[in-house]
Amino acid sequence: MAFPVRDTSNISIEDGNATVRGWIQEIRNLGGISFIIIRDRFGTLQVTAPKKKVDPELFERLTTLPRESVVSIGGEVKGSNQTDLGLELIPSELAVHAIADSPLPLGVVDKVNVEFDTRLNNRPMDLRKPETRAVFSLKSLLCDLVAEAMREHGFVNVHTPKMVASGAEGGATLFPVDYFGRKAYLAQSPQLYKQMLMSTGMDRVWEMAPAFRAEHSNTVRHVSEFISFDGEMAWIDDQRDIMAVMEDVMQYVIKGIIERGAEHLEVLDKEVQLPKTPYPTLTYSECVSLLSEKGMEIAEGDDLGTEGEKLIGDIMAEKGHDMYWIVEYPTAEKPFYIMEKEGTPYSHSFDLDYRGQEISSGGQREHRYEVLVSRLEEKGLDPESFTPYLEAFRYGMPPHGGWGIGLERLLVKMLDLGNIREAILFPRDMHRLSP
Ligand code: ATP
Ligand code: MG
Repeated sequence: MAFPVRDTSNISIEDGNATVRGWIQEIRNLGGISFIIIRDRFGTLQVTAPKKKVDPELFERLTTLPRESVVSIGGEVKGSNQTDLGLELIPSELAVHAIADSPLPLGVVDKVNVEFDTRLNNRPMDLRKPETRAVFSLKSLLCDLVAEAMREHGFVNVHTPKMVASGAEGGATLFPVDYFGRKAYLAQSPQLYKQMLMSTGMDRVWEMAPAFRAEHSNTVRHVSEFISFDGEMAWIDDQRDIMAVMEDVMQYVIKGIIERGAEHLEVLDKEVQLPKTPYPTLTYSECVSLLSEKGMEIAEGDDLGTEGEKLIGDIMAEKGHDMYWIVEYPTAEKPFYIMEKEGTPYSHSFDLDYRGQEISSGGQREHRYEVLVSRLEEKGLDPESFTPYLEAFRYGMPPHGGWGIGLERLLVKMLDLGNIREAILFPRDMHRLSP
């Protein structure tokens, strides 16, 4: 782990005097001299306190502080070839803002490996680690890049309700909410609302917002609250128009992470590769055959499954592709709003997979009112409960389609973090509701 190069603009230096504010990371008392490492958001600075040159009372207070206490230290800045920063501070003033209790629940710089659960149970302390925070600096950059790319493509940023009367992705993963005595749910996705907007002339929209899924699976890629990056666009010929926009957006954001996130990637000791374009396309049926050749039998119509997705990822990696499309899933596997491929059991759907894992699903939607109503009925859903949604289709809905990308899944794959919870400040899952 390397600490970032410190931004010295954060230290106010006047006439060689400076004040730094931060946490006491480490104190080394060597008898005649003490070294105090102080840390702030930018990195660390060494405070050097020679016993003979520093006021005895200040020396005593400073060198006996517990680790992680919060202080302001003023003093003289000197050049030093002993520190990474090339600077050190000789203290002449000390204000103690908070004394940290001990022992610490978690070391900030200790090299010992702690359980991930211990880290999550003490997340604010865990976030004092530069490498933990670097992930969230990159997540913030990722959001900026998404906004830039979507603006470039003429999309309007929208906000749809997160308390809803019906779900779109199936009943099993809905979180019920008591809504003034009526039954409501936390939104699984903005699906129904972003589609309704396609009837308005606001014909390219995007949203980045929490999505809630009562997932009963305990995996490294499922949580009950994640950030969904959704796009929806009208006037498409078919799903390939959507895929072209997505490919542009993905390349833009990954390139941006590589170029503008370099200092955080360095803290994490990670290198991000820009995927090869164009992203190759496999059909669902081709995947079933490819898996069969590798000895994995999947009945036509069944889900490829986690292991199937991984194996396809290995096959694509051999050909040098990190990012690829899997298109034309069986209609029976897809939600009611996906358009059928006329006269076939397949659909105008796609998944975007990144190194063996789905990061996005999307497709062309069914925009014809009568067909949509019969699709609902075929899926055993009651069209009555979708009335507000269906109304938007009754009076003129253009052809349209879109996608939902799990923001954390994208980040985890890009940075090879292993567990989606690494990319969420305070993750929510079956077993975790706090902190
Ligand atoms: P999977 O099959 O991997 O569980 P899904 O097909 O159920 O995902 P979709 O309904 O297609 O998920 O949601 C669109 C995207 O949202 C997914 O590709 C994924 O990136 C993200 N996503 C879905 N569910 C979760 C979850 N529980 N936790 C984190 N991200 C999720
Ligand atoms: Mg999906």
